[in-house]
Formats: sequence, C-alpha cells, structure tokens
Amino acid sequence: MRSLTAFQEFLQAPRKVLVIPHYKPDADALGSALGLAGYLAKKKHDVTVVSPSDYPEFLKWLPGNERVEVFHPEKHEYFNKLITDCDIVFCVDFSSLSRINELGDMVLQSGARKAMIDHHLEPEKFAEFEQWDDTAASTAELVFELIRELGDEHLIDADIASCLYAGLMTDTGGFRHSNTSKNVFETAAALVSHGADPARISKLIYDTNTLERMRLMGFVLYEKLQVLPEYNTAYIALRTEDQKRFSSQTGDTEGLVNFGLSVKGVKLAVLISERKDVVKLSFRSLGNFSVNDFARKHFNGGGHKNAAGGQSNLSFDETVRKFLDLLPQYQTQLQAE
Ligand code: 5GP
Ligand code: MN
Repeated sequence: MRSLTAFQEFLQAPRKVLVIPHYKPDADALGSALGLAGYLAKKKHDVTVVSPSDYPEFLKWLPGNERVEVFHPEKHEYFNKLITDCDIVFCVDFSSLSRINELGDMVLQSGARKAMIDHHLEPEKFAEFEQWDDTAASTAELVFELIRELGDEHLIDADIASCLYAGLMTDTGGFRHSNTSKNVFETAAALVSHGADPARISKLIYDTNTLERMRLMGFVLYEKLQVLPEYNTAYIALRTEDQKRFSSQTGDTEGLVNFGLSVKGVKLAVLISERKDVVKLSFRSLGNFSVNDFARKHFNGGGHKNAAGGQSNLSFDETVRKFLDLLPQYQTQLQAE
C-alpha cells in the first residue's frame, strides 16, 4: 500500500469524488462502491458512483443506489467530463482498466488522483493509492479495513454496513468458499454490530428470483449441464436463444457456474454464455487448479485462483470448441489429488 498519509491529507478538504465498480458489477463491486460512497459522503465529499454498465435488479435495493449513474456510450462526453472534472477517482473491485471498458481510457487521461481498492490477482499499476490484498475474500473487507485504518469505524451506519455485508456474503458464496477466512467472519460480525441484517440481505440477494429465472435454472440443470469425468470438469453452454426463452435479464446467469462445481468429483466448472457482441466465460475451480491462469492465458480474462472470468471474440460454437480442445493438455492437472 502506498501513500496513505498523502491520501488522508488530500481527503481533509471536501472533494469531488467518483467511485467506479467494474463492468456488470456484482454485489461486491457495487456494495463496496456504495459502502465507500456512503462513508465519503458522511465525510462531506461530493460523491457520485459511475457504473460502466447496467446491473441486476437484485442489487438495486442497496442503500445509496440513487447515487449511481450508469454509463451509456451515447453520453460519452458527459461521462468524460465527469471523470475529467473530479478530484479523485476510486476504482473498486477491479485492478485492470480494461474491466471498465471505455471508462478506462477516460480514467487514464484524467488529471484526477487515482485510488484502487481491490483483491484480484496481478493488478495493473495505475493508481497512486492502493488498498490491495489478494488474500482478502472481498473488496468489501478492504473498504471496511480502510475506514477502520482512517479511524472512522464509528461512521459505519446500517446502510454502509449493509452494502459491505452484501459484498462479503456474495464473494464468499454465502460464507461457503475456500476464501471464507477468520477475517471474513470478524468483518461480518463487526458489520452486523453496525446494523447489517444477515437474513434480510440474504433474502434480498439470493431469494428474490423471478419464476422465469427459476425455470432457467431448471432448464440448465436438466438440459445444459455437461460433465466430463475424464477431466473432472463440468460445463454449461448457454445460447442467446436459451436465455431469451426464459426472458433472461442482467444477472440471471450469475451463479449458474456453481451448479457444475456442486457435482461430486468436479474440479473445474465453466459457464459459457453468448452475449450481444462477445462470448462470456465464467470459471470456478476447487483446489490447486488456477482458473486465473487459465482465463488469462486463453480467454483474455483473469480474477482469482478459484474464480475467474474471461471472454472470446470467436463465435459461440468456436468458443465452446476452443474450451473443449484445451482440456487434454490440462488432464493431468485436473486429475491430480
Ligand atoms: P464471474 O464469473 O462471477 O463473472 O467472475 C469471477 C471473478 O472473475 C470475479 O472476481 C470477477 O471480477 C473476475 N472476472 C470476471 N470476468 C473477468 C474478465 O473478463 N477479466 C478479468 N480480469 N476478471 C474477470
Ligand atoms: Mn470482489
């Protein structure tokens, strides 16, 4: 971490602050951004959150959602001005500028100071202040830690705590993944003591599905989940037409990748989903198989050792083929343990 003192001094005066989560923000990205924004607003800064894209309905209850401006290419100039005119930009839950698409260049060009709060592997060096820790399960923990380090834990109210708890809960898969550390529970306990309500937040995020989404899950489990025992691998390939059939909305495919990992013996689970101009891949693994390496090497992506994402500009069928053709070279690794 660099220059916390300089940064602390800089934030003594009221500033124009932008907070940016990654493209298609999940609960950790948006919860961390809104938790940080809530805190900075309490410190009398003028705070706007800019999301590079839309995000799922089940995140719109997050306190401070009204602060979010969603980037749209038609309003390129407006957002460029916003980023150029602010004093400081916080990049939250990502550390590669490509994860915010067009906004990446605007951030790079802007004379504003830059801060990055993140837990992804192999960060780019574009920020002068970094709260980065790849052993953290969530960016929410890092925002919490930052507020605490600044001596302001008493400013965490129920709204800020709820945003951060949402990030912590989802990035640990509901306190189930291997990243569920002692610090996760300690942070969760502190957030609950500041007013976060675990049952309510869990209900709002996990159990507010539309019937169509439930049907999509049923369809995926019954017809799309493929298991390749020789590679301890499961994959789901979902075409646009499958998604349309169930009126799929942003966020409806989130979590589907975990179905694969739920099958006994599976060490690598993949979701390949067709999007408007790209094919998106989600990877999950158990144990030593690094999906960060796999996604980085073959699918222009990255993330964490056991959870990563990437994309492909090949056609949908070619992408599925490419993925399947890669498996033999990883067979020994996937069969280990
Ligand atoms: P998901 O599969 O849930 O979209 O993402 C899993 C993890 O990988 C998350 O931590 C996410 O931030 C990261 N990730 C997802 N897509 C990409 C990508 O295209 N590039 C990089 N570098 N990371 C990604
Ligand atoms: Mn995260």
